[in-house]
Amino acid sequence: MNEATRDIEALIELMAKLPGLGPRSARRAVLHMIKKRALLMTPLADTLQNVAATARECLNCGNIGISDICDICRSEKRATGELCVVEDVADLWAMERASVFKGRYHVLGGTLSALDAIGPDELRIPKLLDRVASENITEVILALNATIDGATTAHYIADELGSRVTVTSLAQGVPIGGELDYLDDGTISAAMKARKAF
Ligand SMILES: [Zn+2]
Repeated sequence: MNEATRDIEALIELMAKLPGLGPRSARRAVLHMIKKRALLMTPLADTLQNVAATARECLNCGNIGISDICDICRSEKRATGELCVVEDVADLWAMERASVFKGRYHVLGGTLSALDAIGPDELRIPKLLDRVASENITEVILALNATIDGATTAHYIADELGSRVTVTSLAQGVPIGGELDYLDDGTISAAMKARKAF
């Protein structure tokens, strides 16, 4: 195997590690990129390098942006007193695409899981409790996925918050085991508008 072939194989192996891609689709993607070198591969390489250098987690909410505090946390307009708790950045972005929520977010970074030994301190739960105490939060909206771990996490957070704030959750309509990222904007919108006391 010559050097170029080894590089191509290495690229295929890396691509195959991406979610949703296996070795077969990684191979197809790499071949496609090589054929579209100027149009696709070179701009992709440049953009990857830029994003690798600049992307970071917001220290406040866990969103991904290019500064230590993200645009949503910095915007005074978003200080509505409503805080929407999601599992993952993909869920936050799905909510933003649906543009149904005007408050701020808190990304947990997963769910509690006894099986995987993920406790509150492995998630952004302590930070959530701090924020509720310090940011004039009046309502915490739990927008967790409808999985068993999602439900366990929602109950844990509601217990920890006690009667300090109103706790609501997205209305049914979020399918069991469904992730927000896979829902269409209308479904997210309806679930947010029909949210109910938790
Ligand atoms: Zn933020």
